[in-house]
Amino acid sequence: MMPPTEPVFSDTQLPPRVDVVVIGGGIVGVSAAYFLANSGRSVALVEKGRIAHEQSSRNWGWCRTQNRDERELPLQLVSMELWDSLPKAIGADMGFRRNGLVYATKSEKELATWSAWIDMARIYQVHNRVLTPAETKALTPGNEQDWIGGIQAPTDGRAEPTMAAPALAKAARSLGVTLLQDCAVRGLDIAGGRIAGVITERGRIAADRVLCAGGAWASMFCRRHGINLPQAGIRSTVFATTPGPQVTKGGLVTPDFILTPRLDGSYIVAAENRGNLQVTPQGIRYASKFWPTFVERHKSVRVSVGSSLFTGPEALVGKWSFDAPSPFERHRVYAPPPDPRVAGPALQKLKSVYPALSGVGVGGIWAGWIDLTPDSIPVISPVDALPGFFLATGFSGHGFGIGPAAGKLAAELIAGDAPCVNPKPFRYSRLVDGSNLRSGSM
Ligand SMILES: Cc1cc2nc3c(=O)[nH]c(=O)nc-3n(C[C@H](O)[C@H](O)[C@H](O)COP(=O)(O)OP(=O)(O)OC[C@H]3O[C@@H](n4cnc5c(N)ncnc54)[C@H](O)[C@@H]3O)c2cc1C
Repeated sequence: MMPPTEPVFSDTQLPPRVDVVVIGGGIVGVSAAYFLANSGRSVALVEKGRIAHEQSSRNWGWCRTQNRDERELPLQLVSMELWDSLPKAIGADMGFRRNGLVYATKSEKELATWSAWIDMARIYQVHNRVLTPAETKALTPGNEQDWIGGIQAPTDGRAEPTMAAPALAKAARSLGVTLLQDCAVRGLDIAGGRIAGVITERGRIAADRVLCAGGAWASMFCRRHGINLPQAGIRSTVFATTPGPQVTKGGLVTPDFILTPRLDGSYIVAAENRGNLQVTPQGIRYASKFWPTFVERHKSVRVSVGSSLFTGPEALVGKWSFDAPSPFERHRVYAPPPDPRVAGPALQKLKSVYPALSGVGVGGIWAGWIDLTPDSIPVISPVDALPGFFLATGFSGHGFGIGPAAGKLAAELIAGDAPCVNPKPFRYSRLVDGSNLRSGSM
């Protein structure tokens, strides 16, 4: 199953020409389309399935500064402001609430890492707090364990993934963006070594600039055009409870589970911060680039062989015709099967810790396919070898919270406007020439 995402109306007519085509209707693509239209550009937003049906509706909804890679922090701070201001600007609730986040731990090492991050972030005017054991207990009522401490990010929060990207897509459409759903982009139209438009399953759209915000599909899309984009996929499973009493106001990280209260009174539960790395042809191709990251994170990643070996965004597909159905139409919505082992034990643990939740059940379980880059921060950048082509992808498991600002930055780079932050850390070239590659935090 998938979370019940707000529906968005489509346009039916393909525009013959626009200033910019945006590929992908996740949080990043819709934000880029919104900001491009807001600055007067004509835009077509083309989505092979429906708005936010892949990662952007399947996530926990966290919009956090805490534990973010320092290179992303300035952009995340822009995003936090956008989460505050966009609902007013577009006249729609995106489910954003600054309800704070609390991390509780029994590990000295973990606490030291979080505390060091808090020290670093002060220069960015981020004032998250290290908690004493007593303060941690006070902030985890009902779950008072022998915490050695914790941290609190009082101004971090959460938006509602089923609402946020659809609300922004509707706003983009009301600014004149042509919104095409169930319409895969099969490939790029290239003339004289630069972008001339895209070829969709319904025909061609001419444009001098194209942004690929295709999430987990971006590497395959680029491969078709000889552009090397190292990406790896991690399947991540979560489940939602049925509604129950409130036991925490904001998101809560504990060694047993990660708990996220939703607006309807239910919770999203992640059993542990583990993902499932499935062996795929694309993964094998880029294994050497990802090896240091996987060695560092081996405890949080389970390796297995699954159906993704033969199908999905990382299958061995490098060539397809633009005149016949492409891999993107064959997977309108990529819905990896959830790991069935996740829900039972986590629900039992949750109920034992919080007797108040003894009546809740599993309201839904799903998985999403996370798109990693070798250094765990995204690419938001032009691709110099193909003038007119831009990427905004590889959000490495934390692109929802930063999504509004990532789309804004992409729009600014495309339009040639002054960027809201220094875009250098996100340049595409680092992934192919090896510069600035270092592992960041998830
Ligand atoms: C279980 C889980 C929990 C997470 N929790 C958090 C969290 O709490 N906070 C956080 O910040 N992040 C979180 N993330 C990560 C976050 O969801 C993603 O980083 C973010 O949604 C990525 O947005 P996107 O727009 O780049 O990609 P997506 O939402 O994946 O959108 C890409 C879109 O492009 C479309 N597309 C691809 N190729 C084509 C094509 N050729 N033609 C047309 N359309 C195409 C796809 O259909 C898709 O809709 C989580 C992810 C998962 C799976």
